[in-house]
Amino acid sequence: MSGELPHRIARSARTARIAHIGIAVRNLDEALRLYHDALGLPLQGRETVEIDHVNVAFLPIGDTRVELLEATDPESPVARFIEKRGEGVHHVAFEVDDVEEALGVLREQGFRLIDETPRTGAGGARVAFVHPRSANGVLIELCERASDRH
Ligand code: ZN
Repeated sequence: MSGELPHRIARSARTARIAHIGIAVRNLDEALRLYHDALGLPLQGRETVEIDHVNVAFLPIGDTRVELLEATDPESPVARFIEKRGEGVHHVAFEVDDVEEALGVLREQGFRLIDETPRTGAGGARVAFVHPRSANGVLIELCERASDRH
């Protein structure tokens, strides 16, 4: 039994890379002055994710990307995060092969989840969040990359 679980994690919840790092900012354009203009990260795109009430800017770097998050609603989670803690790293997204399976593995091991089932995040990815109380104070996003069909 104990030999089975690690194998299952390795297969379904394998985290080969950091999909992105989410940074909560008060103002996207202002933040782009640092990340894009000064640090030189290319601006891959911008998107409004209605369900999360955020404007997102994507800046790839190496095999991952920085996602700047600007709240569009004062009641949104990102706005409340900034209200409470100021701007800063909001979440770290780990890429997994299958979000549903990864959630199952974590649930089975007693980790507290924010999303019981995957939902659609920025860029059409399937995502789910693990509660910071179960993750050493870090809001963790599990992220299954949207299949590249262009
Ligand atoms: Zn994210």
